[in-house]
Amino acid sequence: MIQLLNSLKSGLRRTRDNLTNSLKSLIPGKKGLSEELLAEIEQVLILGDIGVNTATDIAAEIKQRFQKEKEVNYDQVVSVIKEEIHSTVDFLTHKDNGISSLKSPYVILVVGVNGTGKTTSIGKLAHYYRSEGKRVLLAAADTYRAAAIDQLEKWKDRTGVEIVKNEEGTDPAAVAFDSAQAALARDIDVLLVDTAGRIHTNVNLMNELEKIKRVIGNVIPGAPHKILLVIDANTGQNAISQARSFTGSLDVDGIFLTKLDGTAKGGVIIPIMRELKIPIEFVGIGEQKEDIKLFNIKEYLNALFA
Ligand code: GDP
Ligand code: MG
Repeated sequence: MIQLLNSLKSGLRRTRDNLTNSLKSLIPGKKGLSEELLAEIEQVLILGDIGVNTATDIAAEIKQRFQKEKEVNYDQVVSVIKEEIHSTVDFLTHKDNGISSLKSPYVILVVGVNGTGKTTSIGKLAHYYRSEGKRVLLAAADTYRAAAIDQLEKWKDRTGVEIVKNEEGTDPAAVAFDSAQAALARDIDVLLVDTAGRIHTNVNLMNELEKIKRVIGNVIPGAPHKILLVIDANTGQNAISQARSFTGSLDVDGIFLTKLDGTAKGGVIIPIMRELKIPIEFVGIGEQKEDIKLFNIKEYLNALFA
């Protein structure tokens, strides 16, 4: 585990203020379990971006569990919320993030819409793998803007890793190809491939990502080993349709959910996992290299309802 972590709890502060405080003011002490209260709880959960389906399930479970007692308090409600959410997404959370078992070079292709935080997240991943003793190489396969290449280069300097790049406007798949060859030649453990997020049309973008994927696989059989989709937590429920445009054409293995620190929409973790059936593997909780967390649903729920 990384030692330099900022806490998930502070990262989730705005979401917690939004969700938990609304629940607390709704149920200040013991409260009669009316249909009205259940509807209000459900409403708070929906406004907290937890998703309509999960909110409905939770309200039904609270009703079933406490209707005999006719009263509930905040702690009882929260424990049902936690259990219900946990059971909903638990099937996705046993994925092994074990670094020690990675075969080298392990290639991670990072995709997502412009501005979601791909390049920054690659910087954080570089720091993470590097602090685990891995030799890391970055591939600047977003060649559309010189600024994008410079930005990745800065992350290389900040994290003390290596980079493969080319001039602005060159073929991104060629950079990916070169980086895969360099990864083999230099005994790299982890290759992180940065990509562009907006190329004229969605079809072009998906074709380009397919091509990058293909050339990497031609050099390193079985690669890329992981396709990581970066999603900005601020996009709330739109994150799901955004993610679908990628999962439709690429086999996305996991999600890196960014900007959890700046949003009150951190509940969106639940519908993303539930609807897309893709695990959230990492979360971003700031702009520094240390602001990365391996996602763990238990820790998340404890931080959210602390
Ligand atoms: P890209 O276009 O997908 O490569 O996105 P960038 O990596 O350039 O990031 C876009 C903006 O989001 C930058 O200003 C980053 O500093 C910011 N950013 C990325 N991740 C996080 C995060 O976890 N928290 C915060 N607060 N900002 C982030
Ligand atoms: Mg970028």
